[in-house]
Amino acid sequence: MTLRIGVDLGGTKIEAIALDRQGREVFRKRIPSPQGSYPATLEAVAGLVREAGEGSVGVGIPGSISRATGLVKGANSTWLIGKPFREDLEKILQREVRMENDANCFALSEAVDGAGSGARVVFGVIIGTGVGGGIVVDGRVLTGPNAIAGEWGHNPLPAPDGDDFPLPQCYCGRKGCIETYLSGPGLSRDHERATGKRLSAEDIVALGGETLARYQDRFARSLASVINTLDPDVIVLGGGMSNAASLYAQVPRLWGRHVFSDQVATRLAKAMHGDSSGVRGAAWLWDHAG
Ligand SMILES: [Zn+2]
Repeated sequence: MTLRIGVDLGGTKIEAIALDRQGREVFRKRIPSPQGSYPATLEAVAGLVREAGEGSVGVGIPGSISRATGLVKGANSTWLIGKPFREDLEKILQREVRMENDANCFALSEAVDGAGSGARVVFGVIIGTGVGGGIVVDGRVLTGPNAIAGEWGHNPLPAPDGDDFPLPQCYCGRKGCIETYLSGPGLSRDHERATGKRLSAEDIVALGGETLARYQDRFARSLASVINTLDPDVIVLGGGMSNAASLYAQVPRLWGRHVFSDQVATRLAKAMHGDSSGVRGAAWLWDHAG
């Protein structure tokens, strides 16, 4: 294998890179995602891979491959759901393909040579329009028998109280999911509920005040339950909300009283590779697969 090719399939864009033996980027291209069409998505991904060259192929997808059926599940690009995406792509390309959830790719990239470099256990969190997560242990993605390791966004918000009620309805059918509070839209909704004013997540972060304080406290409770379960060395934040600089000081200050330990050594760090983490992690899948 000469090159490591990584593809990040997102809801609005598909990005591909190729890394050489030394990990240097020798190809990069971004195209809009075909909307609503499975065959067009397959062709678009295959076309990018062919353009990138000969080499191993890793693909990050918004969802996961069911271990039971080999079919895509839990994707917000709904036209992929129930399709044998990996198998079909392998047939078209005549190459073996590794496929992982995009948050797992993000976590892998940050664990290999990003904010989690050198750490044994990395929990990668992506917070934007949704809330995703991935776990890397000793440089390898933990996928799990249900292919949901790290998916904390649809756990219920821990210890809900006062302003956390009434529990918001989540699209997944449950109420009070972490995602309904911590996603960008969740933050906007909470601000509107409290003040009657509709603001973007970015504007609320800039404004500070009580809405941001509630957000930080919910974030701390949500991560404390992850720390109690996984005890990661580092938690790396990516996605739009990772730009909120105050989180890195405030959340670790608040999580202590919810963590079952006399001190908390876990670090909270911002992603180093930004938007490129997903595609870089996809490229690393052959070297660091679970
Ligand atoms: Zn949910």
